[in-house]
Amino acid sequence: MRIAHSSPDAQFVLSGITKRYDDKVVLDQVSLTVKPGEKVGVIGDNGSGKTTLLRVLAGELVPDAGTVRRAARVGHLRQQDATPYGEGTVLEAFAAGRPGSPVEHADALLALGLFRAADLTMPMKALSPGLRRRLELARLVSEPVDLLLLDEPTNHLSPALADDLERALIGYEGALVIVTHDRRMRTAFTGSRLELQAGVVARSRAA
Ligand code: ADP
Repeated sequence: MRIAHSSPDAQFVLSGITKRYDDKVVLDQVSLTVKPGEKVGVIGDNGSGKTTLLRVLAGELVPDAGTVRRAARVGHLRQQDATPYGEGTVLEAFAAGRPGSPVEHADALLALGLFRAADLTMPMKALSPGLRRRLELARLVSEPVDLLLLDEPTNHLSPALADDLERALIGYEGALVIVTHDRRMRTAFTGSRLELQAGVVARSRAA
């Protein structure tokens, strides 16, 4: 698996971000700068605001206060798959909205090593959660982005595939913000770290 990226020089800057759900403050004046090519691991207990932070970075959530500066292309692997894939096949879902012939798409998808040729004609609605996860990953890594956001990327992946992803991330030169409970991935991670505690940045450490 090789992850596409677009060598931008844009920085991503979150500054004084506060996000509330009703009266509950979920992020409290969080600031974070992601430099080109920087890898940031976000850690913290369940409920500390990690997913919310990624969703703000992705532009999916508008904060109640603070500013967000980011480039247009953000690739976001959500913790839970929210993509409607419709009635089509694996290959059609991979190719949806992208230029190129079916043969080109099939070559590109098979080159990632996530699917076998026989899988490409499977209907999306028959796919297991693991295979759906693979398809999301395939779409994500084959589209050049300025910032890759991965929320628990090894959920539903086999150990072998999690290893593949880990290797692909080592070779990936773009900016990355990752949340993972995966022990191996956390141990191998060499980037910057940001620790959230109840919505507040408790610690941040540069790589
Ligand atoms: P983490 O990813 O660190 O587990 P989250 O960002 O998912 O944390 O959640 C932080 C807090 O915000 C939790 O208390 C969670 O219950 C709450 N929360 C998250 N999403 C929503 C939502 N859509 N509506 C209300 N509360 C939410």
